[in-house]
Amino acid sequence: MSPRRGNRARGLEISPRERLAREKGAITKDWGGKLPIALVSPNSYYIGMSNLGLHALYSLLNRHGDIVCERVFWEIDNQERKAPPVSLESRRPLSAFRVVAFTISYEVDYFNVISILKASGIPPFSADRDESHPLIIAGGPCLTANPMPLAPFFDGFGIGEAEKLLPGLLSSVTNHINAKREELLKSLATVPGIYVPRMLPKTPVTRQWTENLDDFPVGSVILTRDTELGDLYLIEVERGCPWRCHFCLVSTVFRPMRFRSVDTLLAQAKEGLFHRKRLGLVGPAVSDYPHLEELLTGLRRMGAQFSMSSMRARNLPERILAEIAGGGTRTITLAPEAGSERLRQAINKGICEDDITDAVGKLARHGIKRLKLYFMVGLPTETDEDIAAIARLTLQCKSILDRQAKGARLSLNIAPFVPKAGTPFQRLPMASIGTLKQRIARLKGSLAPQGIQLKSESPAWSQVQAVLARGDTRVAQVLNNIEENSLAGWRKAVAG
Ligand code: SF4
Repeated sequence: MSPRRGNRARGLEISPRERLAREKGAITKDWGGKLPIALVSPNSYYIGMSNLGLHALYSLLNRHGDIVCERVFWEIDNQERKAPPVSLESRRPLSAFRVVAFTISYEVDYFNVISILKASGIPPFSADRDESHPLIIAGGPCLTANPMPLAPFFDGFGIGEAEKLLPGLLSSVTNHINAKREELLKSLATVPGIYVPRMLPKTPVTRQWTENLDDFPVGSVILTRDTELGDLYLIEVERGCPWRCHFCLVSTVFRPMRFRSVDTLLAQAKEGLFHRKRLGLVGPAVSDYPHLEELLTGLRRMGAQFSMSSMRARNLPERILAEIAGGGTRTITLAPEAGSERLRQAINKGICEDDITDAVGKLARHGIKRLKLYFMVGLPTETDEDIAAIARLTLQCKSILDRQAKGARLSLNIAPFVPKAGTPFQRLPMASIGTLKQRIARLKGSLAPQGIQLKSESPAWSQVQAVLARGDTRVAQVLNNIEENSLAGWRKAVAG
């Protein structure tokens, strides 16, 4: 079982009718005369609905009077029984739609894409499909970085951001959906940012991005408690990241850094407060938002409680921390990524030990009771000394927390370094599974007895992720040959 298919998703398997009844904001349309598009998240409802990108696409597509867009998820029950998924809104199978659009956020979900197509009776390879089948397209950050492992399966990929891609894509599809498949693909291949694997591009496909985020406010469109942050109304504050950590995809695929205006965000917050008491401010480093104080003051005046998805542990002004604590935030995540100064510099993290301990001290003084620290293991040039430095830094943070905030809790998330296409570290090797396991065990051994909770991602699945992130079209054959979506199934398919 993949690391992301947890019991919480399983526990939320309720009937679609009940699911819809628990939602606010779902759109149901009559199909007559409209282009039906299935928006597929190749994972459970619980995980798919946590993704603001899915909310944005659902809203952007349904905004068109001549389009009906319905959501499709791949629940554990579907996976186990290989049962064809049906849309949430009208309970139709994928074959009933003219277009099937996958939104893919994680490489490990590639497995599910092929399973979904097969379970739906749709030939998985693009070359085996014709006009009698839906057009199968996909987008998402990992595909913008490297679509090649999935290239033989898809008729087209959106490279970049949906807001910019959709006008050209939809115009091409609506004008040619009834034409011969080759004609439709030829037309799609002329749309900026659309990569059609069966049509060799004459010029490089260029990533598309939205210049002015204010033109497209992104926030929760469908409100439901049945998802990870269901008690929050989520608002995207910014897109991109200026820090360029060498392992991270965000600063590459969402370049350049862009911010929404305070006015737009406060207008979204006003709307959000009709639905939820708490707002979730989403972005790669929300504490870097240039008008943060003005935004937080505005939110406080509205009586909003809020939390922030991410903070950068550098130069956190006291007055902003006071606003954050006043807004009801009790848990904060900081991501030092590496324990030693040397390794943080090597990965271009741009924060030093004093920044981290200073941030922890300030957060504790402002009443933050739960602190999560994110670290990576297996980073290039990492030694045992760097692992010891993670333990030392964590204990230092714990001692600061214990001194200043009674009853505070510190937890650690440990992720193996996965080299990703499009990042400065894309060509560097990954540590062996044995090394990763040994380093994670060492951290657990030294920190768990101190009352620090550690969660770690699976080294074996991380290695699979690295293959999917950097692979070429040869990976497609392996994915197609997998009989069971598990590590054993993957290894068997790789062995051929
Ligand atoms: S790791 Fe965080 S700070 Fe670094 S580039 Fe990625 S999003 Fe930005």
